[in-house]
Amino acid sequence: MTSIPLVDLRAQHGQVSERVRAGIEDVLRRGSFILGEEVAAFEAAFAKYTGVRHCVGVGSGTDAIELMLRAAGIGSGDEVIVPANSFIATALAVVRAGATPVFADVEARYYLVDSERLATRIGARTRAIIAVHLFGQMAPMSTLDALAREAGVLLFEDAAQAHGARQVGAGPGRFGVAAASSFYPSKNLGACGDGGAVLTNDGDLAQRVRALRNYGSERKYHHPILGFNSRLDTMQAVVLNAKLPLLDEWNAARRQAAARYDRLLERMPNVVRPAVRPENEPVWHLYVVRVPQRDLVLERLTAAGIGAGVHYPVPIHLQGAFRDRGHGVGDFPVTERAAAEILSLPLFPEITLAQQEQVAAELARALAR
Ligand SMILES: *Cc1c(COP(=O)(O)O)cnc(C)c1O
Repeated sequence: MTSIPLVDLRAQHGQVSERVRAGIEDVLRRGSFILGEEVAAFEAAFAKYTGVRHCVGVGSGTDAIELMLRAAGIGSGDEVIVPANSFIATALAVVRAGATPVFADVEARYYLVDSERLATRIGARTRAIIAVHLFGQMAPMSTLDALAREAGVLLFEDAAQAHGARQVGAGPGRFGVAAASSFYPSKNLGACGDGGAVLTNDGDLAQRVRALRNYGSERKYHHPILGFNSRLDTMQAVVLNAKLPLLDEWNAARRQAAARYDRLLERMPNVVRPAVRPENEPVWHLYVVRVPQRDLVLERLTAAGIGAGVHYPVPIHLQGAFRDRGHGVGDFPVTERAAAEILSLPLFPEITLAQQEQVAAELARALAR
């Protein structure tokens, strides 16, 4: 039996390697290494793809979150509500913007933020909410939008795991003030290195992000504001331009693979399969199940050559980095319970039925012993 990785980036790169090589050669020949036409072309193409007016390419997804918050004037003294169940970058970016992350628990069924619990976390200093579209499906945006409006706070989206996802027909960037995307290599649309983007329909906010990513300047050597060096790298834009036309095809393949797992795992009574909110069309960034004795199951799968993973084993509020927030075990029980039971199975567009059957068989074996 051959081993099966959690994600297979080599299989994906094979499909675009020629276009990437030619594009990189072209950049080298022209010697235009910062921003330039490749970045502008990608920004235009991704804006068109998402149906959002403006796309600004930045250095990473974490930077995209920080810069969209800063561009909206969020900083010191402000509280920003984020789910306790997310990749830590959502909360880190809030800290980097100078604001304070406030955590909220999630729904047991979807792992997305629980809007009722979130409502209880809104206080006098709350300035914003970041909705995280986790594992490829979008957070309940109409409910969160209503909540944000009522409380007079801004709604943002962390769309790092949701390239191409839809909710009643509309994707990330269409609901909040702005959405942050990441092109970390393993995301549904990934570069060959770091990259990110801010999507927004607000032209002024886009303009501020453009200045912030480029030393706070709109005109060379004129710096009206304090900025950063966080541009989408030109070589990464070459990669993204080659990959974007294939994103829908890849997402369709992920959807098909998720449906196959659903069938293969249907008759395993102690496996809880992922659930999709009725209004969502997810893009299956990850296929996350719940199993008893997760650590043991994970160990057995790893020994059998199955690249399963856990997203994420330690909730953000229990990370050492946020020790000073004073949280303890039991503060966000749904997130904590999920962290102990969830298991991500290998999923990538090129995964074959035979590979998935092998994953299912090894999972059944790991659970039976
Ligand atoms: C990957 C990810 C990020 C961070 O993106 P980087 O490009 O790695 O900085 C932020 N939020 C979520 C939910 C992510 O999955």
